[in-house]
Order: sequence, then C-alpha cells, then structure tokens
Amino acid sequence: MAQDCLFCKIIAGEIPSKKIYEDDLMYAFYDIDPQAPVHFLVVPKEHIPSADQLDERTAGTVGRIFLTIARLARELGLENGYRIVNNCGEDGGQTVGHLHFHVLGGRLLAWPPG
Ligand code: 5GP
Ligand code: ZN
Repeated sequence: MAQDCLFCKIIAGEIPSKKIYEDDLMYAFYDIDPQAPVHFLVVPKEHIPSADQLDERTAGTVGRIFLTIARLARELGLENGYRIVNNCGEDGGQTVGHLHFHVLGGRLLAWPPG
C-alpha cells in the first residue's frame, strides 16, 4: 500500500466505497462522480501508478481485470455495450495515481472524447 494514495485507502477500507467485486488481484467500485448511468472503476490491489508503469510481472493483472470487466458489465445489464477507459498521465487526464480502468455504459457515449 502506498502512503497517501486514495485508491490504496479505498482498497484497504480506510475510505468507504460502493464495492461491486473484489478478489486477490483487483477491487471494483462505483465512481463517486458518475459520467454515465453505470460508471465503475476497477483497480489492481497492488499500487501501480499508471498504465505506463506496467511490466512483464504486472501485465497479466490487466488481462484478469478485462475478463472481470466483461463479466461485471454483463451482470450490470450493459448488453448494449460499454466503454473501458484508462486515463494515463497528466495529458491523458489521470487525476488519481493508482492504475484504474473506468467502465461506462447505459447510454450512447460520444466519440472522440474532448
Ligand atoms: P481519473 O481522472 O484519474 O482517470 O479518474 C479518477 C476517478 O476517481 C474520477 O472519475 C473520480 O470521480 C473518481 N474518484 C475520485 N475520488 C473518489 C472517491 O473518493 N471515491 C470514488 N468512488 N471515486 C473517486
Ligand atoms: Zn495506490
């Protein structure tokens, strides 16, 4: 756990969250400021600062996260599709320095993003 990391504190239960799922590798919870009717985040339990910091050891976790996203999306009724977003770094719009994947659905999403 990284000191002063918001998502590490959420994973540890030090900050409350609306949990959807967790296992040994990941934690999934609803975004506090939803941008779509369904908007949740999936994060690795290990503190990885961003997608840019992945390596051979941690890359497998991302595959496991994507498999879980597909299952959760089905369970949450997103049969019509959804979007997986990773904001990476400052220009990518990342505001929390702990790798996370947004999952958004329940409405038609615009493309390209601003
Ligand atoms: P980023 O901008 O880094 O890609 O995404 C960070 C996300 O974390 C934002 O969508 C923001 O609404 C969400 N977020 C920030 N603080 C909290 C919090 O305390 N709880 C939850 N559930 N989500 C948060
Ligand atoms: Zn962290």
